[in-house]
Amino acid sequence: MVDGSKTDLLGSSYLLYDWTQKLKIDVPLESIEANFDHFITLRNLIHQCFQDFAYKREIDPNHLQAVNDFIRQFGIYPQIRPEPTNFPSLSYESKQLNSPLLHHIVQSFFEVISQKKILDRLKPCENDDCVLLFLDKSKNKTRRWCSMTICGNKIKASRFYYRNRHPL
Ligand SMILES: [Zn+2]
Repeated sequence: MVDGSKTDLLGSSYLLYDWTQKLKIDVPLESIEANFDHFITLRNLIHQCFQDFAYKREIDPNHLQAVNDFIRQFGIYPQIRPEPTNFPSLSYESKQLNSPLLHHIVQSFFEVISQKKILDRLKPCENDDCVLLFLDKSKNKTRRWCSMTICGNKIKASRFYYRNRHPL
């Protein structure tokens, strides 16, 4: 939510590029522009699965299948590579889709969706005006908002306001 209206924070290739910069992911803007539609399609498919789990604690098999169809459509496949540490690394590649960032997103999705202890920490933000999901990494799994500075403070401020306007 931005200024009270639902806003897509990745609504253009430049906004997506900006997001990668904030996360210190090195991706050229040209690569993002060339693959922008695929990013948004994949984001929406993943969001659908994560929303199922965050709200209902079970994922519609059709939503998982839609991600599988995307992966199959673009021929994305796993590769195991040797590393100097002797622990091989797993990465994803595609001959049809030249976008390491897209492959990395697929890999991250698999990591979250296939590990119960990570997926169990997926939650919706408790601010009703917010559509974001987050991974609760707190020790006791008690985190309630996507961001304390944005949604947490907003809710606390509104409760404080309500209490003071409507004393019990
Ligand atoms: Zn939020």
